[in-house]
Amino acid sequence: MNTAEIADLQKQFLIPTYAPQLALVKGSGTKVWDADGKEYLDFLAGIAVLNVGHCHPNVVKAVQDQAATLMHVSNLYYNEKQPQLAKALAEKAGGGKCFFCNSGAEANEGLIKLARLWGSDKGKFEVVTMKNSFHGRTLATLTATGQDKVQKGFYPLPEGFAYAEFNNLESVKTAITEKTAAVLVEAVQGEGGIIPADSEFIAGLRTLCDEKNILLLFDEVQAGIGRTGKWFGFQNYDVQPDAFSLAKALGNGFPIGAVVASPEVADTFQPGNHATTFGGTPLACAAALAVLETIEQENLLENAKAMGTLLLEKLQVIADQYDWIECARGTGLMVGLVLNDSALPLQKKLQEKGLLTLATAVRVLRILPPLNVTVEDVEKAVALIEDACSELDSL
Ligand SMILES: *Cc1c(COP(=O)(O)O)cnc(C)c1O
Repeated sequence: MNTAEIADLQKQFLIPTYAPQLALVKGSGTKVWDADGKEYLDFLAGIAVLNVGHCHPNVVKAVQDQAATLMHVSNLYYNEKQPQLAKALAEKAGGGKCFFCNSGAEANEGLIKLARLWGSDKGKFEVVTMKNSFHGRTLATLTATGQDKVQKGFYPLPEGFAYAEFNNLESVKTAITEKTAAVLVEAVQGEGGIIPADSEFIAGLRTLCDEKNILLLFDEVQAGIGRTGKWFGFQNYDVQPDAFSLAKALGNGFPIGAVVASPEVADTFQPGNHATTFGGTPLACAAALAVLETIEQENLLENAKAMGTLLLEKLQVIADQYDWIECARGTGLMVGLVLNDSALPLQKKLQEKGLLTLATAVRVLRILPPLNVTVEDVEKAVALIEDACSELDSL
């Protein structure tokens, strides 16, 4: 099928929650191809999912082998891949235990339930989240998301959430009451426009939560699994969360999410408190184990840091040339080019030129390449961005 045929079929049979422009049919590393044979350099990576690139042979092999051995057993039974993956994640996180699920929203839902159950004998249930955050699209997580646009039309929202300004400790202090069980934060707001948290803010949150006996929760769904040059975004700060969520890149495209909780709070959940049919299947865990091993074997944390620095420097040079580009900002390979106005024309022009990115928070071009990008990939992408900016400037 060509793009037009696929679009026509989709229009007839899919609930129109999405508005895609491009039909992708094949991928390899940092490249993808559309249904009409055109090649793209993928600097979006399925929105921070494909951290080891499209169809990495290690992940493909792990999925193929596991699919032919045992795909699913139900959590009524042990499956060795699940504690193996949990151990690998706990070691990287500095301790803790895991609960596996299937998506970012479900992982955050797990964090919220963990906080509520932990607070239930203390009279605490409220979760303070940040304005401009993003935590998912289920009812609880869209309520946690501090953005009207995702909540509009879905009232009444579940109770038990309060909002504070990101990077404003005083605002969090004001939002906390004796009913507050947890503060939930992203180390780098992704969907909100690639806004890294300030070090003082994160350090202040840890102190504040300790003083008030409140859990500090990180949503690591986008920033986690090496994206920022550390295994988890909070590791760019000198803090240890009480629990955090993972999803997106954990399976590199194979759906899997996780709640990782510190040893002190992990056993809050006991048999019967929380569950999900597909959580931590042998297949999903095999994919995730291959992802973690690949990041280690190929030194992708170091590469993400080095390539992120290079990309940021080169984008800042472009930003300095045009008065309609404010700046480039980010951490590791979570990078944003901040414009004065909508980033959509730039995203579209780049797509025409064969570079995939995403306009976010209206005026931010979100750039999230696979962690194994090369200097050549970065230079090629920057050259395309330079071209596109110069063409838009002359309009
Ligand atoms: C994508 C994202 C989510 C939601 O994940 P889904 O898998 O789409 O449910 C939650 N939090 C953050 C920070 C995200 O980037």
